[in-house]
Amino acid sequence: MELLVAGAAGTVTGSKYVLSAGGRRVLVDCGLFQGVKQLRLLNWKPFGFAPSDIDAAVLTHAHIDHSGSLPLLYKAGYRGVVYATGATIDLCGILLPDSGFLQEQEAAFLNRHQLSRHHSALPLYTRAEAEAALAHLRELPFERERTIAKGFKVRLFYAGHILGASSVLVTAGRTRVLFSGDLGRSRDPVMRPPAAPPAADWVVVESTYGNREHPKTNPETILSDIITRTVGRGGTVVIPAFAVGRAQKILFHLERLKQTSRIPDVPVFLDSPMAQSASDLLCRHRAEHRLSAKRCTLVCENAKYVREVEESKALDHNRYPKIILSASGMASGGRVVHHLKVYLRDPKSSVVFTGFQAAGTRGAQLVGGAPTVKIHGEHVAVKAEVHNLDMLSAHAGASEIMDWLGRLPKAPKGVIVTHGEPESSDALRARIEEELGWAAMVPFLGESIDLDGRPRREKRQPR
Ligand SMILES: [Zn+2]
Repeated sequence: MELLVAGAAGTVTGSKYVLSAGGRRVLVDCGLFQGVKQLRLLNWKPFGFAPSDIDAAVLTHAHIDHSGSLPLLYKAGYRGVVYATGATIDLCGILLPDSGFLQEQEAAFLNRHQLSRHHSALPLYTRAEAEAALAHLRELPFERERTIAKGFKVRLFYAGHILGASSVLVTAGRTRVLFSGDLGRSRDPVMRPPAAPPAADWVVVESTYGNREHPKTNPETILSDIITRTVGRGGTVVIPAFAVGRAQKILFHLERLKQTSRIPDVPVFLDSPMAQSASDLLCRHRAEHRLSAKRCTLVCENAKYVREVEESKALDHNRYPKIILSASGMASGGRVVHHLKVYLRDPKSSVVFTGFQAAGTRGAQLVGGAPTVKIHGEHVAVKAEVHNLDMLSAHAGASEIMDWLGRLPKAPKGVIVTHGEPESSDALRARIEEELGWAAMVPFLGESIDLDGRPRREKRQPR
């Protein structure tokens, strides 16, 4: 069996892996590259494999960096089915059309301002193309083994990262390959911990936080401090949050803080139609998390859903203290950018990021202490307090990843470390070799690995 790493090498985005055996090919994840321009340009390049040669596909979870290239896959000639858990399918129903809509908007913006080097900028894919791709998703429940192509069996395991998130075990002949997918936290107030991994010959493991641990501080203590201080001086708290997963976790914490009077009773606005739909899904997929039906309802009702653009704009005109929760989480787009344009300039206000900020994003600049950021072509001075509550991350920290690997029933033949910035992946590789004594490697983008051969020991820095 052979593994082609067609994404998430040296970056946390663009996850795509092709397993080939006996003349058949299975694709695991089909994510969009995101972040710096150099990465985004990869979305316009051929996949590195022929989509029409793929027999079946499976998704670990719905985040765009794992699912967002599905419409491109179909445009490029794939005609098969894509397997995923029920919640992943529901979330893709929200995320993929939105992604198509954003691509159309970006192309329209470039054309309007004649910024494209081409006569007419085209979207990577349209909303309609994204919707067409949804029709090919098929549900595969957790823990149920299924043959998805001749000679290929898959089984999904609970990964605890977001609703529907799974680790994927692919078996072909006598070789078992386990893809961690994005791993959740061992102690999360909303999601359950990742399931123990099954025995596998090879493990492809994520390394988003391969060189870092999450602070042990209770996020509620910090949120309570920031909100109380900000509201006390008449400011507004803007929270850029990832619409799926993170927004719901913040709502959960805010509801608890309000219930116990640890924050002032100011209105909470959830200004992201996508986050609203994702919050509603939390109530629909109750078996996948720790919250009771009552708690789910309370968490969702704690926030006022802002649906219309006009309502969203009004939040920037009234200067009463409030909490605005809005997407996107790295402030690279979405309604939160408009709020930031207003509230970043306000020394009374605070901006609270909620996890990993990829290089090149506005979020990374702000968290890095940039004195100004560019928004809609304007330089905006940063006068508000800026924080990052890294502990709210939905990704396992380095030790949590190591613990998950340590629960494998027996040592695998080799570990392939992906889905991380180069330093993170390399740090995790070194820990796996030193602490577990297993062969581990960091592949490069486009690398083909012979899984029947011996694992390559890394003797060099990746790239
Ligand atoms: Zn993810």
